[in-house]
Amino acid sequence: MQALVKTQKAPGLELIEVPVPAVGINDVLVRVQKTGICGTDLHIDSWDAWAQNAIDPPLTIGHEFVGEIVEVGANVTDFAPGDLVSGEGHVVCGRCRHCLAGRRHLCARAIGLGVGRDGAFAEFVALPMTNIWHHWPGVDIEVAAIFDPFGNAVHTALAFPILGEDVLISGAGPIGLMATAVARHAGARHIVVSEPNPFRRELAIRMGATMATDPRERAFTDLFEDLDMVEGFDVAMEMSGNARALRDAIASMAHGGGVAILGLPTEEISLDINAVVMKMLTVRGIYGREMYETWYKMTVMLQSGLDITPAITHRFGFREHEAAFSVARTGESGKVIMDWTA
Ligand code: NAD
Ligand code: ZN
Repeated sequence: MQALVKTQKAPGLELIEVPVPAVGINDVLVRVQKTGICGTDLHIDSWDAWAQNAIDPPLTIGHEFVGEIVEVGANVTDFAPGDLVSGEGHVVCGRCRHCLAGRRHLCARAIGLGVGRDGAFAEFVALPMTNIWHHWPGVDIEVAAIFDPFGNAVHTALAFPILGEDVLISGAGPIGLMATAVARHAGARHIVVSEPNPFRRELAIRMGATMATDPRERAFTDLFEDLDMVEGFDVAMEMSGNARALRDAIASMAHGGGVAILGLPTEEISLDINAVVMKMLTVRGIYGREMYETWYKMTVMLQSGLDITPAITHRFGFREHEAAFSVARTGESGKVIMDWTA
């Protein structure tokens, strides 16, 4: 099969012929139809410090996908060839305290698809049946391809109650954009999206933001009067990984607010802990998706009218992977999809 592979400890990726993955007794084999490009894939391609530490070539990369099951292992009874499915990208150990208690998203031994094991940028991918999510007939196939990052957005957006609340989202990358639509669907009052990139600010408005602002131009506190806000944001979602974005969020929170942090800074950062203490903020880190409550919420919100399709801006065939990666890198894009059937 064709697969996009990190072949060497150096920048770049190669589209090469590799064996179809072996299917263990608890696994399913999926014929990949569409995949989404994530920042993680860009890091692996460019071979930055994180990738050098995390990746052991040769490795087929990619973890956001949808496809059709073509084969199941001897123990698999809940899935059958022909089923349309996506995969949870964290393969958990199943044996630790949290896994045994059903809190699999807290597994400290999770292995990432396309990071610690061969991934989905290929014509076929194999995963344990416990990592498979069954789609319903009529699901938008491109939306199905990005359930993994959509799940990051949903997990973060539902970390604190947002009905009627004033919400700050910093960073309108693909995940911040999807979180904007989720916050609107879930009944937030104002959703202020902070993003330096004008292309993405425009998309944020389409996703349902009340206002999209450039953090370099206006302090959040200047916006409060326009929005009839008295004290500050009730909930903040940090989705940029930028230190200043997190500091600005903490500075503009109302007392008792919740700050959900999904963005991954590239280095240690300092924060005003006095503000956290004296405003009695709850600061919560968000990693991955809850298995499988987040997946359930994604499904039912889509079925009840949530639309995240404006966050998908570009489509390529898998042979055009270089063009796809370069668009994803520019920032003049939302989610970039690659088709593996063409
Ligand atoms: P992205 O890089 O496409 O988007 C980040 C956006 O933040 C960019 O549009 C950038 O212009 C913007 N930004 C930069 N500085 C800013 C500032 N000061 N204020 C506001 N916005 C600013 O990333 P993405 O794919 O949407 O992912 C969002 C973040 O979540 C990244 O940091 C990523 O590493 C992280 N992530 C975390 C998890 C997890 O499980 N915790 C999973 C996936 C991604
Ligand atoms: Zn575990």
